[in-house]
Amino acid sequence: MNDLDCIFCKIITGELPSDRVYEDDLLVAFRDINPVAPTHILIVPRKHIVDNNSFGEDDEPIAGRMFLAVQKLAKSEGIHTSGYRLILNTGLDGRQEVPHLHLHLIGGHKMRHPMG
Ligand code: 5GP
Ligand code: ZN
Repeated sequence: MNDLDCIFCKIITGELPSDRVYEDDLLVAFRDINPVAPTHILIVPRKHIVDNNSFGEDDEPIAGRMFLAVQKLAKSEGIHTSGYRLILNTGLDGRQEVPHLHLHLIGGHKMRHPMG
């Protein structure tokens, strides 16, 4: 299931450290190492799915869980009411840097808007 060369797989197994803020049987969420806003959390499936194109029919429960985790994290971060952005980069033109599917949860004061 895990990819031995994948940085996010290593974070999920604990081989690499992270500031973990949420986990369940399907997901792990941790703070981005280079945050663009006061809240910048990466929500990551435990399963090594490369990108949105690699997302299979069997993976459907993971997607639902990711969006429910967003709600929980937005509440615990205090941005549930003020609002937030979700970003999911895929592929070269999508500027995906880490080839393990992840949702960026971005919010808080002085948020830089990466897409204007
Ligand atoms: P992408 O461009 O692939 O959507 O975003 C990858 C994100 O992962 C970037 O925002 C980057 O700062 C973050 N990132 C890369 N390596 C690490 C790491 O080792 N730890 C953490 N916490 N975040 C990372
Ligand atoms: Zn991985």
